[in-house]
Amino acid sequence: MAVPRGRLEPVEAEGNAGRQGSSGVEVVFPSDPATPAPLCPHGPTLLFVKVNQGKEETRRFYACSACRDRKDCNFFQWEDEKLSEARLAAREAHNRRCQPPLSRTQCVERYLKFIELPLSQRKFCQRCQQLLLPDDWEKHGEHPVVGDISITQLKRPSQLLYPLENKKTNAQYLFADRSCQFLVDLLSTLGFGRVLCVGTPRLHELIRLKASGDKKSNIKSLLLDIDFRYSQFYMEDSFCHYNMFNHHFFDGKAALEVCRTFLQEDKGEGVIMVTDPPFGGLVEPLAITFKKLIAMWKEGQSQDNSHKELPIFWIFPYFFESRICQFFPSFCMLDYQVDYDNHALYKHGKTGRKQSPVRIFTNIPPNKIILPIEEGYRFCPLCQRYVSLENQHCEHCNSCTSKDGRKWNHCFLCKKCVKPSWIHCSICNHCALPDHSCEGPKDGCFVCGELDHKRSTCPNISTSKKVNKAVRKQKQRKSNKMKMETTKGQSMNHTSVTRKKKRKERAHQYPCS
Ligand code: SAH
Ligand code: ZN
Ligand code: ZN
Ligand code: ZN
Ligand code: ZN
Repeated sequence: MAVPRGRLEPVEAEGNAGRQGSSGVEVVFPSDPATPAPLCPHGPTLLFVKVNQGKEETRRFYACSACRDRKDCNFFQWEDEKLSEARLAAREAHNRRCQPPLSRTQCVERYLKFIELPLSQRKFCQRCQQLLLPDDWEKHGEHPVVGDISITQLKRPSQLLYPLENKKTNAQYLFADRSCQFLVDLLSTLGFGRVLCVGTPRLHELIRLKASGDKKSNIKSLLLDIDFRYSQFYMEDSFCHYNMFNHHFFDGKAALEVCRTFLQEDKGEGVIMVTDPPFGGLVEPLAITFKKLIAMWKEGQSQDNSHKELPIFWIFPYFFESRICQFFPSFCMLDYQVDYDNHALYKHGKTGRKQSPVRIFTNIPPNKIILPIEEGYRFCPLCQRYVSLENQHCEHCNSCTSKDGRKWNHCFLCKKCVKPSWIHCSICNHCALPDHSCEGPKDGCFVCGELDHKRSTCPNISTSKKVNKAVRKQKQRKSNKMKMETTKGQSMNHTSVTRKKKRKERAHQYPCS
């Protein structure tokens, strides 16, 4: 069966909305969801429609909400397709088979056993990405196994596990220390007592490390993430296996209740949600999910607090600003550049090749969020917020207008500030790159529509082989370094020789995911 082209198109449809000549797949939300969406192993599917250069809608179909690569989840069903009982039964069996081999409770039991073991018996299989109990050793005899897993290592699973690399579905970009520390300090300065971490495993672990380390900061954290490997390291009340594109809790009602209890504790006081979704994801399903989490928090509020909003940090590239603000008008974008460990392009000015395009969107008043002076951020009294060093206040726009950290210039013809690389084109009657073509669609990035980069360097790296290569190289360097650091004091036999092999072997945690 011919499935409409790859699952990348949702991104293009989103980024290119309104651009001429674009075609792709868009997600549709039926206003009256009389028929519930069919289920794939990742929960309810989403309804998509293929769009072609302003032509009529074609047939609509259901596909996986989480996996944009058919290799990860090949669910496909036309909206009007009727399935036989036999096929429905087969699908159900398939969905069951695809669930993690261990239940959440079993994982917790294993973890409790594991920490009771003497250091010399605490082993981790790198191929299966799994903590091993003595009974498992034989089965993993041929696998690269590291031993002497310390409690410190157990507290930093994001360093023990490989970042998942399947680009289109689960690309994991872990915060660089600088950014992660900044976030934890900020959360603590703002006085939050609980953090709902949605797709932020490294932030989750740093919060917990700090909480256990010093008595002053005692912030609690609950991680919701689709990466099931994390369930080996956390008890039921600090990790839920979760799909943020359809608000699906893989462990059903019990897990949902964990989340609800967490949000509603203390009548909902002192809690914030921090999320760093995969950038290739669609904004709309994410927004719908976040609104459900907000509603869950609201249920626990008393009546007289009904005007209050759940504080949120949504970490996402700056060029999604208008999309995000469309769904959350009270959000504003901070100038802070969020850096990643395993991403060549998303590094802070001096160290990386390029400045990171990733920002924090929040409904917390920006004047309450102090950005680090030592990194060049300064307070603009007129805008009442901290801005990048080079983001200058434009007296004509009456605002610090730069979005990307560079100094922007005011164009009097366009009556707004524009990127430094742009000049005013009298043919197009607006500002553009000097070598733009005056007719037809702008030759900007095909993925997001931005004019200052091409597809090959788009922050939505899932589409870029070139960048992936660079990332992989960088990662290898990094992981060599990291390895040296984390293996200090333990056997070094699996450092570099097996690395290539391991990367190839990196297995799924459970079938279909
Ligand atoms: N910067 C963050 C990690 C962000 S990477 C940190 O360092 O903590 C994106 C995260 O979202 C990954 O942990 C990934 O496993 C998770 N993720 C990807 N798709 C998801 C989905 N559909 N539902 C929930 N989490 C998802
Ligand atoms: Zn799926
Ligand atoms: Zn193994
Ligand atoms: Zn201006
Ligand atoms: Zn202009």
